[in-house]
Amino acid sequence: MKFTDLGLDQRILEGIDAMGYENATEVQQQVMVPILEGKDIIAAAQTGTGKTAAFLLPLLHRLLTTPHVAGDINAMIIVPTRELAIQIAESIEGLSYFTDVSSIAVYGGGDGNSFTAEKKALTSGVDIVVCTPGRMIAHLNMGYVKLKGLKYLVLDEADRMLDMGFNDDITKITTFLPAQRQNLLFSATMPLKMRALAKKLLHDPVEINIAISKPPDQIIQKAFIVYEAQKVPVIIDMLSSKRFTKVIVFCSKKQNVKTLTLKLKSAKFLVAEIHSDLDQKSREQYLQDFRNQKINILVATDVLSRGIDIDDIDLVINYDVPNDGEDYIHRIGRTARAASSGTAFTLVGEKEQRKCADIEELLGTPILKGTIPSEFGPTPNYTPGSGKSKGFSRK
Ligand code: AMP
Repeated sequence: MKFTDLGLDQRILEGIDAMGYENATEVQQQVMVPILEGKDIIAAAQTGTGKTAAFLLPLLHRLLTTPHVAGDINAMIIVPTRELAIQIAESIEGLSYFTDVSSIAVYGGGDGNSFTAEKKALTSGVDIVVCTPGRMIAHLNMGYVKLKGLKYLVLDEADRMLDMGFNDDITKITTFLPAQRQNLLFSATMPLKMRALAKKLLHDPVEINIAISKPPDQIIQKAFIVYEAQKVPVIIDMLSSKRFTKVIVFCSKKQNVKTLTLKLKSAKFLVAEIHSDLDQKSREQYLQDFRNQKINILVATDVLSRGIDIDDIDLVINYDVPNDGEDYIHRIGRTARAASSGTAFTLVGEKEQRKCADIEELLGTPILKGTIPSEFGPTPNYTPGSGKSKGFSRK
């Protein structure tokens, strides 16, 4: 589904374009229409699925297209952590860049100055407030928060908020809100206590469950824990074995695609690159060459991870760990199509261990760890708990 199919305000479409989103993700496809129709939602969706934009886009559209009280707070998004509050505020800024929608992140731990700035915004009104529960209550208790016109309440990562003991705080906040409002609840899991909260807050909600598709069983998955500098020589070694006839190497960044392609070309592999800087004609030509086996290796960004129709790819290599668990599943799903078997290797750099662990969590099982030949030297231990990477499900 294209975002243009939804009738979103042109200024929002420009924001989407600027963020580089082309197609709506699964959760976006499922929740945007009911939100635009004004329905309450309870959605089981993990971080990494595009759920933030899934509620922000229709929310922004409704703010722009339905009358609302100027100088009031129109929407409140309650989240468990300040990191998530900041991140959502950044997404609002990006997606609403071409609009005059205003927003503020309200979270604890700042200095007196930030409290004063928050107070000012909450007193004079701001379209969207993204807040952590405790800090919001601190402001609410002072009596100046303008909530009469509030029409939208979003609870994001609601299961985490319950785990962190925010149930009573959330209930308390809702006592300050007008009863007539649209409620959107997002949660990675749906424990019983969530059902109870949902029953209290939501009116006849549309239930959406974004099942994470599991990769087919016949894909042999291996992760190689390496240092960043070992990635290129290891890939060259994997490709040199000649066990594989059609290979796609995925990189998250265009620049890595370009650099790796050059290195593989100079190592005399028959290789082409696919990314969004290429015009459609060249992309199609390279895909054709790959189908006809004029070349046997494609190096690509995730533009190629969804929906390309080439059946006999026998190896997918992830040059890096994808940011998004769904992307991992889509990338490796390029192999073992049409019931044949396939292999997916993922190179996990020092800073990517956390992301790898998040993907394992999403898959519900560890990925088998492979060893690289000893000539490449020692490799790091796999200790994802201590890594610094920003995992997609732990923002
Ligand atoms: P979230 O699940 O909201 O944390 O989003 C995960 C990542 O996906 C974020 O980096 C978003 O910017 C990105 N994202 C969200 N929607 C899309 C889309 N339609 N196309 C590409 N990336 C997206």
